[in-house]
Amino acid sequence: MGTLDNRHTGIGMTSDRTRARMVERLRDDGIRDEVVLEAMNVVPRHIFVDEALAIRAYEDSPLPIGHGQTISQPWVVARMSELARNGRALGDVLEIGTGCGYQTAVLARIAQKVYTVERIGALVAKARRHLTALKIRNVALKHGDGTSDLGEELAVDAIVITAGATHVPEALLRFLKPGARMVLPLARGGAAGGDGERGTQRLTVIEPALQGYKEETLDAVRFVPLLPGIT
Ligand code: SAH
Repeated sequence: MGTLDNRHTGIGMTSDRTRARMVERLRDDGIRDEVVLEAMNVVPRHIFVDEALAIRAYEDSPLPIGHGQTISQPWVVARMSELARNGRALGDVLEIGTGCGYQTAVLARIAQKVYTVERIGALVAKARRHLTALKIRNVALKHGDGTSDLGEELAVDAIVITAGATHVPEALLRFLKPGARMVLPLARGGAAGGDGERGTQRLTVIEPALQGYKEETLDAVRFVPLLPGIT
């Protein structure tokens, strides 16, 4: 991907080295899944941010992508991918909150097919440009509200929600195959919309159980809110 890197940003081959360092930091910070680490090593994060920010693309921080949204920090992307994989090969995966498409691109390397939904039309277009530039073809992108009925039936191995929820979006649970899981930032008790963002969100893993579902609460995180409707 060296040529692509050069053409897009001019930061050139140095990005391969800085990305390798980012992966070493992820390892130091507790990411264990080698399949995920390899995906993080291959996907050029700087392609997904504006040129002026490309120089910061391999820092472990979120960055603005326009429309009040952010690209998640690399550690969070790696951690959610690791939790989604749970040590297994993934077939189909559903992502809610495409944003600029970076997490989508990482998922596309560790799953056979990624269905991704974004509520902001301009970001759908942006993500499509990035994924096309990287010749990533196993992604189906949709402009829609990922908390509502998606208008199609899916049966997936994992659902990854990349915006902060204040409750489990139960409409999506029926898409989980037996043994599949949902990974999301959850801040129960936060008010709808913006307040959920300020409450303490925790990465949460949901697994359907015989009655209802089983829930595991993990790392504290900060995501922009999961919002209803499209724009
Ligand atoms: N995964 C992204 C992170 C994007 S931030 C990345 O790697 O860059 C979260 C995204 O979720 C935003 O783009 C926001 O518009 C989107 N979003 C919020 N609520 C949504 C909903 N109900 N349906 C679909 N997308 C939603």
